[in-house]
Amino acid sequence: MSSWLNGAYPAGLFPTLHKHSKRKNRTVAEAMLNDNWIRDIAHDLTVHLLHEYFLLWDLIEEVGYCALNTESDMLTWTLTTDGQYSASLAYRMQFEGGTPSTYPVKIWKVWAPPRCNFFMWLLAQNKVWTADRLQQRQWPNEYFCQYCFRNLETAGHLFKECPITRSIWTAVASWTSLGDFRPNTWAEKTSIGRSFDEVTPSGTSPIARGTRSLIILVIWSIWRERNNRFFSAQGEDSDTNHS
Ligand SMILES: [Zn+2]
Repeated sequence: MSSWLNGAYPAGLFPTLHKHSKRKNRTVAEAMLNDNWIRDIAHDLTVHLLHEYFLLWDLIEEVGYCALNTESDMLTWTLTTDGQYSASLAYRMQFEGGTPSTYPVKIWKVWAPPRCNFFMWLLAQNKVWTADRLQQRQWPNEYFCQYCFRNLETAGHLFKECPITRSIWTAVASWTSLGDFRPNTWAEKTSIGRSFDEVTPSGTSPIARGTRSLIILVIWSIWRERNNRFFSAQGEDSDTNHS
């Protein structure tokens, strides 16, 4: 394995996870292809392994955004023959059925660290590792939302329905005087991607861009705090188990 993760290599950073992996000699390209690395380790996961797995996931996201950042003109846009994205194409796509057309502008044209865009891009497709998704794969999970401990943690619950996150959005709405941030104005039972799309303004004005940036940064902060709570609870568990 090469030292591609911020100058380190996965086997050195996560020896237990490496030992657990079914395939240890993949090249980076092979491991990243179709998320093969996930398949290699997604069996008999324990809480400790899962912790390493999440940390590795974060690091890979970080590396992923660097690649996107430096090679943004290499991204392939599948809806055109030449693979090039254009704003006029994004506009035209809005009239095509069912395509999440506004994501390019709403997610990528913001002032936020690229890992936040990448996280939002995953979240909009419901690909973030919330408890419900872990549960579906029968991977270890905490089941409950780490904020309220009352509901199954889904992306929809965590980022818009939880009483705690609703109070965060309400506070943001009053600081910014942006009424769209008030949770009681949001349509219920829409997917998180759809809700994001409804609340987030498109357009290139600094206000639109600033509003999008704010939404993504709040979402990112909710996720970071959720992880802090999750991992500090894990730490306390293992302390009590071993004493
Ligand atoms: Zn909750």
